[in-house]
Amino acid sequence: MTENCIFCKIAAGEIPSAVLYEDEEFRVILDVGPASKGHMLILPKAHYADIMEMPEELTAKAFVLAKKMARKAEEALGCDGINIVQNNHEAAGQTVFHFHIHLIPRYKKDKVGLGWRTGTLTDSDREELVRKLAIK
Ligand code: 5GP
Ligand code: ZN
Repeated sequence: MTENCIFCKIAAGEIPSAVLYEDEEFRVILDVGPASKGHMLILPKAHYADIMEMPEELTAKAFVLAKKMARKAEEALGCDGINIVQNNHEAAGQTVFHFHIHLIPRYKKDKVGLGWRTGTLTDSDREELVRKLAIK
C-alpha cells in the first residue's frame, strides 16, 4: 500500500465504498461522482500509478473483470451502451494516480460528455506514425 493513496485505502477497505465485486487482487466500486447511473471503478488492490506500471498479467485480468462487470451492467441496468475508459497521466484526465478502469453505462440521450472532434490523417502524418509506432 502506498501512503496517502485514496484508492489503496478504498481497495483495502480502510475507507468505505460501495463494493460490487472483490477478490484477492481487485475491488470494484461505485464511482462517488458518477458520469452516469452505474459508473463503476475497477481497482487493483496493489498500487500501480498507471497502466505503464501495471504487470501484464494483472492488466489482462483487470480488463477481463471490466468485461464481466459490463455484462452485469447490461443485464441489471438495461443500459444501451457501455464505455470502458482508462486514463493515464494528467494530460489524459487522470486525477487519482492509482490505476483504475472506468466502466460507464450509457443510456440513449444521456448527457455524458465523452468523445472528441475527429481530425484528418494526412499522408505525412500517416507515414511518420507508421514509421514511429509500428511494432515488428
Ligand atoms: P480519473 O480522473 O483519475 O480517471 O478518475 C478518478 C475517479 O475517481 C473520478 O471519476 C472520481 O469521481 C472518483 N473518485 C475520486 N475519489 C473517490 C472516492 O473517494 N470514492 C469513490 N468511490 N470514487 C472516487
Ligand atoms: Zn494506491
